[in-house]
Amino acid sequence: MGKIYKYSSFNLRIKLDELSCLLYNTSSGILVKIKNRKLDNILRHLENGYQNINNQLLSQLIENNFIIDNKVDEYKKIVERYLDFKKNQRRLELYVILTMECNFDCPYCFQTREKHSIDNLLANSIIKLVKENVKKFKIKETIIHWFGGEPLLHKDIISKISSSLKDVLTHSILHTNGYAMDSQFINSLEVLKIKQIRVTLDGPKSIHDKRRKLKGGKGTYEKIKSNLSSIVNSNNNISIIISTNIDKLNIDQYEFLLKDIESFSGKVQLNVNRTFIGNKCEMTELDTFNKSEFNKKSEKLYDQIIDKNLGEFFMPKQLLNICQADNQFSYAIYPNGEVFKCSSCISNPRSKIGFLHDGEIVLNDKEYQKWEGIGFLHDKDCQKCKILPLCLGGCPEHRIFQSSDAGQTKLCYEDNDIETIKNRILFYYKKYIENK
Ligand code: SF4
Ligand code: SF4
Repeated sequence: MGKIYKYSSFNLRIKLDELSCLLYNTSSGILVKIKNRKLDNILRHLENGYQNINNQLLSQLIENNFIIDNKVDEYKKIVERYLDFKKNQRRLELYVILTMECNFDCPYCFQTREKHSIDNLLANSIIKLVKENVKKFKIKETIIHWFGGEPLLHKDIISKISSSLKDVLTHSILHTNGYAMDSQFINSLEVLKIKQIRVTLDGPKSIHDKRRKLKGGKGTYEKIKSNLSSIVNSNNNISIIISTNIDKLNIDQYEFLLKDIESFSGKVQLNVNRTFIGNKCEMTELDTFNKSEFNKKSEKLYDQIIDKNLGEFFMPKQLLNICQADNQFSYAIYPNGEVFKCSSCISNPRSKIGFLHDGEIVLNDKEYQKWEGIGFLHDKDCQKCKILPLCLGGCPEHRIFQSSDAGQTKLCYEDNDIETIKNRILFYYKKYIENK
């Protein structure tokens, strides 16, 4: 008796036109175009316990895991892959928040906590932490993210930590507003092992200067653009990511930003994000897009970005772990020495898991335990979810605080819904594969 086969529970069928569809497997990442009639025919056979493989299409679908042995437990395989990666991960990743001070005064800024800045004592403690952890846990890769406030208010500390760790630091990533990148700093990027710079331009000059202004009100667009230009022209292989917060008040001007930075073509990655309004913001909810509005609008923006060679659009990624918070060797260090599992949680004091003292993280076990084991493993909805390999249960912080605060039992993270993923795949297919 031959094998009995089943349709993978991770297949997403995406309508292309009346005759054909795309089939995407969220676990393998393989995408194929297929005739509706042929796929429906195979599905009918599978329902009837189909055993023979004398059909070419069926053989190809089996080869690419769209159709699998009926005995395979796909959920178990994802769990094994996840636990295996977690156990063997040897990447130390620190999010060093150098200061909560900033030279900008952006109306949508969320940062509300006290204006602490890092001092030499804490810098020494970070250096000791990294050196000892690399040795003790046989760390293979060490990455530091320089964060703020505005991290370039403390270039001296970036330099001190980077040079002390030059033998163990793999590379670092700078999250900056881009204003203070003078020529001396740009010349030192290689020595500092800064491999990637992430900045925000919220539109062309007329818009950006209203939103991302210096304290005192002066515009910042020209200076940031000129700094980026120096890096782009310095041939130093630094990757530059330029993000724009998009809403109803700046979307129509986006094309002018693209035109203005056309000379960066092929050398930067532009991304668009949905604007969220912060505590000092003059915008209202009416000025921002909801999630589905934004998804539709962002496709048009990526169309322009790709056409001008100012960035790529990416397929959803198969995750090996959920995020930074899911790595046992990843921490965000606040400038007063408090330690968090994630750099996005620092404005929530309840996310604190301990503090750094003399190179050692003193954990608050009760708080730390909340982050351990949080995720899809105990969520029945995730066990049946077609997009589990792309989501792995979503944001742990959301899970921890939604379940305790709101008493929610369904913790599906809103950004990971199936329609959004299908639309992304369709967009990718139309942009990069169809007609090629
Ligand atoms: S997914 Fe959630 S917990 Fe993870 S880094 Fe992002 S905000 Fe933090
Ligand atoms: S959180 Fe939601 S989308 Fe993510 S795996 Fe679980 S059920 Fe699926």
